[in-house]
Amino acid sequence: MESTQVIIVGGGVAGLAAAKNLGTGIKYVLIEAQNYLGGRILTVDAAPDLFIDMGAQYVLGNKSALYNVCNELRILFRDDDTPDDAVVVTTEGKIINSELMDKAADFWERSIDEAADKFDSRKARKPICFAEFVPRRFEKRLVSSSLFTQNLIEPITNYFIKLEMTDANCSSLYDLNLIEYSNYENPPGAYENELKNGGYRPFINYLKSFIHNDEQIRLNCEVTRVKFLAEERKLLVEINDLQKQQTKTMLCDHMIWTTSLGYLKDHFRRIFTDEKDLIQQKQNAIANIGFGLLNKVVLIYTKKFWRENADSIKLLHTGKVKIFEMSDLLRHQVYTERIDPNVVQEIAHELSYCGVLPSTNIPVLICWFAGPIALVIENLNEQIVGQICHETICSYLKVDQNSYPLVRTLKSEWHSNKYIRGSYSYQSIHSNKQDEHELRASYAPDGVQRILFAGEATHEQHYGTVNAAFETGIEAAKKVLSIVNSRQ
Ligand SMILES: Cc1cc2nc3c(=O)[nH]c(=O)nc-3n(C[C@H](O)[C@H](O)[C@H](O)COP(=O)(O)OP(=O)(O)OC[C@H]3O[C@@H](n4cnc5c(N)ncnc54)[C@H](O)[C@@H]3O)c2cc1C
Repeated sequence: MESTQVIIVGGGVAGLAAAKNLGTGIKYVLIEAQNYLGGRILTVDAAPDLFIDMGAQYVLGNKSALYNVCNELRILFRDDDTPDDAVVVTTEGKIINSELMDKAADFWERSIDEAADKFDSRKARKPICFAEFVPRRFEKRLVSSSLFTQNLIEPITNYFIKLEMTDANCSSLYDLNLIEYSNYENPPGAYENELKNGGYRPFINYLKSFIHNDEQIRLNCEVTRVKFLAEERKLLVEINDLQKQQTKTMLCDHMIWTTSLGYLKDHFRRIFTDEKDLIQQKQNAIANIGFGLLNKVVLIYTKKFWRENADSIKLLHTGKVKIFEMSDLLRHQVYTERIDPNVVQEIAHELSYCGVLPSTNIPVLICWFAGPIALVIENLNEQIVGQICHETICSYLKVDQNSYPLVRTLKSEWHSNKYIRGSYSYQSIHSNKQDEHELRASYAPDGVQRILFAGEATHEQHYGTVNAAFETGIEAAKKVLSIVNSRQ
């Protein structure tokens, strides 16, 4: 039976960072269930010389360890301190001064700060949901300011609710834990820094370059069971080779487990069925901490129909119910695929933010969807979803959609991916500090840390980010090295 010192489960950023930091002095194997490295970083070749990140896209914080690596690799395009230049438009096609949205963003932040002051986390006895406090305070601020006309209050509030759902990546603001949210810390420095055309791919290649022997990487292999052998003081690991359709077993002294929380929610009990103490230790945390869904719909054009230099299009839904009349083409597609026309309007209604990809001359819009609608989108045909987004945006901007044909649509499907099952973690109304602590904790059945847990969800301050995956992967490798070195 094959034996090694360390098995790393998962070839996303956390697993690759762990591998890099284990270095060459230790025997390890990295097992990845999918046919690529990167996990929730997935850079696709969308067209000649056009690369799109379907998962993580921004480097968060320009004073972070992750930023420093990306900076050294010269893959950063620009920092977040470039002023926003958004096109803000209502359903009737009225262009709103984007400074008004900046002011509203400030009100939203202030409402969150006010919540943090009001609900002291040390004194709060029960969780308070975000939806109960922040949107109401925000709306009051809008109403009491002379800047916002009555007809814009509700659309702007809805816009910020959707934006928050996208950022926090929760299923609803009613499920977002306000107390834990206030304890969250962004990676340090300017927030959303952009990568050059090429996205995160060079970063993944850089991490992979530290694994010198290809034999150490096993793609298309899923870890299906882990058991601690008390007598041998080893972990017995069952691995399913998905290509060869063969199951094999391996032995190791330590394991660094990095799969997503979504995957753990589905498989934790089955994989660790023999380790009752581990199940006891983590089952509440895995059930309670939230794992949301965020999907992108990427629209690729040959010519722009939005203002030159605009970095985003923000849609304020000021109309009553129907946002746009479907074109004959879309009506036919919807009819053929037996899609409920109400779903089309629902998608149009939920679409509120489209980012312009800045790092290329090819006109690309990235539409973001969070919460229940993100799941609806996964189950629809890519071309139809693209056409719905295209016609919605054209209808807002009052441009003839036929004059600017959509060349290609790409759509992420993070929930359907059975090795991910969503996008990233958040503190739900059911979770607390204890859960966070338990999710991170190592498993030491014989007093020695045998299974270390890393990955975005295990980071104390900025879970949900590439930074978190990177830092926890490094941390887990350091711990393993110190255990191994102390026992030699
Ligand atoms: C749409 C979207 C947008 C995002 N935007 C940003 C952003 O702009 N900036 C940012 O910082 N973060 C962003 N994130 C979050 C960021 O992508 C993640 O936090 C980070 O990539 C997670 O890395 P990880 O290594 O923890 O997990 P993963 O990337 O999920 O890696 C885990 C790996 O384990 C593998 N695996 C699962 N089960 C098994 C098994 N049984 N055996 C072997 N392998 C297994 C999976 O295939 C996967 O490759 C975004 C995420 C999404 C989905």
